[in-house]
Amino acid sequence: MRWLILIVVFAVMYIYLKTDHSIDEVFDSRIHYKIGQIDPRFQLSEQEIIALSQQATRIWEDGTAKSWFVYDPKAGLSLNFIYDERQAETLIRLNQLEQIEQTQQRHAVEQRHLQDQQKQLDDSLLHLQQQQADFQQRLDQYNTMVQQINQNGGATAEQRSGLEQYKQNLQQQQLQLQQAIDTHNFNVEHINQNVDSVNQMHQQVNQHIETYNQRFHGRLFHKGEFDGKRINIYEFESKQDLVLTLAHEFGHALGLAHNQDPKALMYPFLKQQDMMNFKLQPADILMLQQR
Ligand SMILES: [Zn+2]
Repeated sequence: MRWLILIVVFAVMYIYLKTDHSIDEVFDSRIHYKIGQIDPRFQLSEQEIIALSQQATRIWEDGTAKSWFVYDPKAGLSLNFIYDERQAETLIRLNQLEQIEQTQQRHAVEQRHLQDQQKQLDDSLLHLQQQQADFQQRLDQYNTMVQQINQNGGATAEQRSGLEQYKQNLQQQQLQLQQAIDTHNFNVEHINQNVDSVNQMHQQVNQHIETYNQRFHGRLFHKGEFDGKRINIYEFESKQDLVLTLAHEFGHALGLAHNQDPKALMYPFLKQQDMMNFKLQPADILMLQQR
């Protein structure tokens, strides 16, 4: 009996040394993984990556009510974060996207401001038209009075002084009206300048979007890969994106290939999946059952 135990012990030690797997791993049906190299440019600590990897394995666990993976510092399979032009390009892209969004927001604020100014201008124009109509009415009255007095054989001294007073008032009113028109025209000019600058801003946003689309359109990288011993991560946009990328590569580690359902985790690209609240799709579960 003792020699049998010895053989088992040696066999386990042999497997351990030969295959670079932990002893726990030999007796556990779950896939063990450890954290390998992390490029510091990803700005993620090992602890953060462990937590994110556990969120990723939980997707498999929640979808199947079974534990498939376990973090094990002595595991054979390692998660590596390799920084290359993919992540560098992604950071540039995210930065440009943020700038576009900021400019769009600024543009929206300026446009609302402009609409308010235009509304004020409309009110001012209406008021001006009323003043003008009022002035015209008084001018007509004056002319009628002069006409009547002339028809009746000329003005008395009293009438002349009254007309003179009336005329002076009219001239004063005309002066005020002209000032109001000048102010209004000045405001119109000012607002037209604002319209120009807001339009320019709009053009800039569109140009920026066009440049962005030209540069980044259709860029679907392989964000990660699984080569049997390593899961390498190259690119992600956010932590949520990383969790799904990890879950996708864990799927490969389970022996799964890609499938054609764009909402599935094992679809070749992460695009249409529900990022914020992802649940394993029937297509993924079916693949797992048919392994
Ligand atoms: Zn894949």
